Amino acid sequence: ARREGERLTAHNLTKRFQGVTAVDGVTLAVPPGRITALTGPNGAGKSTLFDCLSGAQRADSGQVLLGGKDLTRLPEHARARLGLARTFQQIAVFPGLTVADNLRVGAEQSAGRTARESAADADRLLDLLGLSDLRDQAAAELPTGTLRLVELGRALAAQPAVLLLDEPGAGLDRRETALLVELLRSLADGGLALLLVEHDRELVDELASGVHVMRTGRTEFHARLEHRGGAGHQGGHPDGAGHPG
Ligand code: ADP
Ligand code: MG
Repeated sequence: ARREGERLTAHNLTKRFQGVTAVDGVTLAVPPGRITALTGPNGAGKSTLFDCLSGAQRADSGQVLLGGKDLTRLPEHARARLGLARTFQQIAVFPGLTVADNLRVGAEQSAGRTARESAADADRLLDLLGLSDLRDQAAAELPTGTLRLVELGRALAAQPAVLLLDEPGAGLDRRETALLVELLRSLADGGLALLLVEHDRELVDELASGVHVMRTGRTEFHARLEHRGGAGHQGGHPDGAGHPG
């Protein structure tokens, strides 16, 4: 079953590289049923923050929580099993595998499902993403926009509670962008918690109920008061605590 309805939170996360504090005491919440955006210039620390949330990198200090569970010390695959999925700025798919097999690999990251269930889920997702006709194509043969959708499908196949997307709109054509917008909306409506790194201002305005603007490692939160998702009741507090999604 889907593990929806859980909030991902970061408390005072810090990550330093030699001489650079890439993430500098970030506190934020990614509530279920909403799309939260993360914007900011190149080098602001967005991808590093994603890495610290997903477990691709270990933060130097601070905490990452999913619901009440402390993920801070867990490796990436363990966080994935608990319901955290992500995509990458540099698209990460298995180039030698077909589109369908890429999704099946993603489905295997979800605990407690049979091969048959995983295959059925992969079929449903292929349909949702408009990829059914490409199911037997090797990923290596596909253009960037299509690969982004394959990567998104791989992440969704794991049935996450929280989905972190690093520039999902990059390289998509108009038709693919429209499909992405509809899909992300319906995922949020279904209870998924989404965090989106995105530079496309229109996409952010259209989708996000709140925006974290990141600059040299620090974030500032802007609630979007008029948003349909009910963000109007969200105060300016950076972690949005006490506001159920
Ligand atoms: P963004 O995704 O917002 O463009 P990044 O998270 O990629 O920003 O980078 C934030 C800062 O951390 C930059 O100054 C970048 O040069 C530095 N940085 C990122 N990854 C590493 C790394 N592996 N080693 C050293 N410095 C890094
Ligand atoms: Mg980046």
